[in-house]
Amino acid sequence: MSRFTHIIFDLDNTLYPRSAGLLQEVNRRISLWLHQEKRLPLEDADALRKTYFRRYGTTIGGLVAEGGSDVDAYLSFAHDIPVERYLQPNPALAAMLSSIPLHRLVFTNAPAEYGWRVLRSLGVATQFELVVGIREVGLHSKPNPLAYERLLALVDAPARSCIMVEDRAINLLPARRLGMTTVLVDAAAADGVDFALPDVLAVGPLLAHSLGQEEERGD
Ligand SMILES: [Mg+2]
Repeated sequence: MSRFTHIIFDLDNTLYPRSAGLLQEVNRRISLWLHQEKRLPLEDADALRKTYFRRYGTTIGGLVAEGGSDVDAYLSFAHDIPVERYLQPNPALAAMLSSIPLHRLVFTNAPAEYGWRVLRSLGVATQFELVVGIREVGLHSKPNPLAYERLLALVDAPARSCIMVEDRAINLLPARRLGMTTVLVDAAAADGVDFALPDVLAVGPLLAHSLGQEEERGD
């Protein structure tokens, strides 16, 4: 029996490529919200977004830390995007996911409802049991370790039974520290992760070969 029971995918720039432009549109709306709410010039709002991102992992991390912002209004505004204009159904992704005999879920710093819209646009919503969004982990953001602890409590699985797939190495480090097996889908930046792949479609073969052999060794 495999020691793995769950595979946890990041959403943006992991299940679809950066070239889709969707995350860039989210970021544009985040800066626009900061521009309007904080009454900052757009350029300063964009700089503040980047500061929050570096310091807290997300803008909402900064808003929560500083207090006084309407977090629900922010989340709705930032993700109010017709995602189907940016994404197309990806049958190869659906086939790859369906070949993985584990509980499949998504863990995103965005709201879960946005996650489901993205999955539907990619034609892979039926491949996932659960989307864990930022509200479900108490508004903590990856890479805050609290977010991962809440995630594990929610899915009721030990870290060593979980594989996490992400496009940002910094978001995999806390997962690895907790004992998850980590897979980066950006082969250009492979420090501190277990596996680095050029593309999410390579996750299926990785599980079937490398991680499958690990289980044969009785690891
Ligand atoms: Mg991502």
